[in-house]
Amino acid sequence: MCWHVLGAGSLGSLWATRLAREGLPVRLILRDEARLAAYNAHAGLALDENGQRQTFAIAAQTVSADEPIRRLLVACKAYDAERAVAAVAHRLTDKADVLLLQNGLGSQEAVAAMIPHARCIFVSSTEGAYRDEDWSVVFAGQGSNWLGDTPHGAAPAWLEDLKQAVIPHQWTADIAERLWRKLALNCAINPLTVLHQCRNGELLAHAEEVTALCAELARVLQRCGQPGAADGLLEQVQQVIAATAGNYSSMYQDVAQGRRTEIRYLLGHVCATADALDCPAPMLNQLRLRLIEHLNAQGLPSD
Ligand code: NAP
Repeated sequence: MCWHVLGAGSLGSLWATRLAREGLPVRLILRDEARLAAYNAHAGLALDENGQRQTFAIAAQTVSADEPIRRLLVACKAYDAERAVAAVAHRLTDKADVLLLQNGLGSQEAVAAMIPHARCIFVSSTEGAYRDEDWSVVFAGQGSNWLGDTPHGAAPAWLEDLKQAVIPHQWTADIAERLWRKLALNCAINPLTVLHQCRNGELLAHAEEVTALCAELARVLQRCGQPGAADGLLEQVQQVIAATAGNYSSMYQDVAQGRRTEIRYLLGHVCATADALDCPAPMLNQLRLRLIEHLNAQGLPSD
């Protein structure tokens, strides 16, 4: 069974190359003919792991190819996912599985609503990768991938492919809790690193702000039926800040490099959820407005 990978960016390339390395059938789906021509002019897709570089001649096609899709890995940013899936929705077979790798929340539900006949599986990844150039990915951080679906279905048989490709993974009945927890950690750390222009560890100087944000986040999580994601949030935020003290957050790096952020699916999603539940979230709303102002001042999209 072929793995169609929609989006040959950092995570899409990391998954595609590891699957291809084990001889599993993979196709890249690129946005248009220009990107396909650029890819075909290249030797293939390269993976740099532990300083070792290997290139894989993975076949590619555009979204408008007509090959049916039985298993789709959506590896676009959250703000691109809906449009990208819409372009291939007619190719999905009746029993298609669609894996959604997006960070934050909101994009997954929007995609799932668009393709009700498919089984949508949400993925929360703590692996790290970046593109050092087009069609080349550096595997930068070991982690794992938690997979699950909201109707709490059985684990799919194709998890064997991930095992074979040495893609660390766990099937979980609590994918919503994992995604909410990751989102809350992100909201407590990333926007502040952008606004204070600092590394994660420097947030120790803003401990009161972090503590108050965590208390508000925990209240929103409780109200939206995610008490497990609220439990011990501040302690975990403090652990992450200590363990990644020397790092710049992903949002800090996006802004520094003039890239669009996923704010709408992170802080934006928490604020919208709090609003819908009439749950007061003054600090989170103010943080969101400050971040939007900062992004606007940098000439970056704030949605
Ligand atoms: P990325 O490097 O920017 O890659 C996104 C890819 O999607 C790009 O290759 C882009 O194509 C492609 N794309 C966008 N619209 C498309 C369309 N309509 N049709 C086909 N392809 C399209 O992003 P990423 O870092 O892999 O992140 C993907 C998701 O994973 C994000 O939600 C991110 O937060 C999450 N995540 C990433 C990491 C990480 O370490 N990178 C870790 C955990 C979670 P072009 O190349 O043509 O622009």
